[in-house]
Amino acid sequence: MREIGLGFGSNVGDKVDNVRRAIARVFAGPEFEFVVASSIWRTAPWGYLDQDWFANACAVGRTSLTPEDALTFTQSVEEELGREQTFRWGPRVIDVDILYLGETRLSSERLIIPHKEMMNRAFVLAPLAEVRPDLVFDDRSVREAAEAMGEQGFSRLAPPWRPDQG
Ligand code: AMP
Repeated sequence: MREIGLGFGSNVGDKVDNVRRAIARVFAGPEFEFVVASSIWRTAPWGYLDQDWFANACAVGRTSLTPEDALTFTQSVEEELGREQTFRWGPRVIDVDILYLGETRLSSERLIIPHKEMMNRAFVLAPLAEVRPDLVFDDRSVREAAEAMGEQGFSRLAPPWRPDQG
């Protein structure tokens, strides 16, 4: 079993509920064992700015899946949740990223671990710093990287998801 870090984001529909349902779903079966989740944060859109704010959270689990199987599983959860509320080519209801998987370093066409942009994205670092501040990537701790991002106008929308919330 290795530790897996997951990032969740939604900016369509009931965003907080989408993030909660995605976290609940990834930890509902045998694939990932729940360890801890961050608060759900309200964050500003990144990149393409002409869109609504996002709800973001991170969760930590344990898994014996390979990186590829872990991605196949998280993508099936994205599809399962996305299918309910959106239309083909429409905005995505939920995004699930694999942030890290134990000590795995991997770069293939389909999958890059640790996630290529996680140390540059405040919407990942703010929630991840709540639950894994001392993890180090590229010689920097998550806490340091999060602090370096400065005030981003983010706020906490909801407390951490717990398994008994279903
Ligand atoms: P996105 O638009 O951010 O959801 O990107 C989805 C694509 O990123 C998928 O086709 C994945 O194959 C690829 N990808 C590469 N690395 C990762 C990762 N660490 N976690 C999730 N998706 C990844």
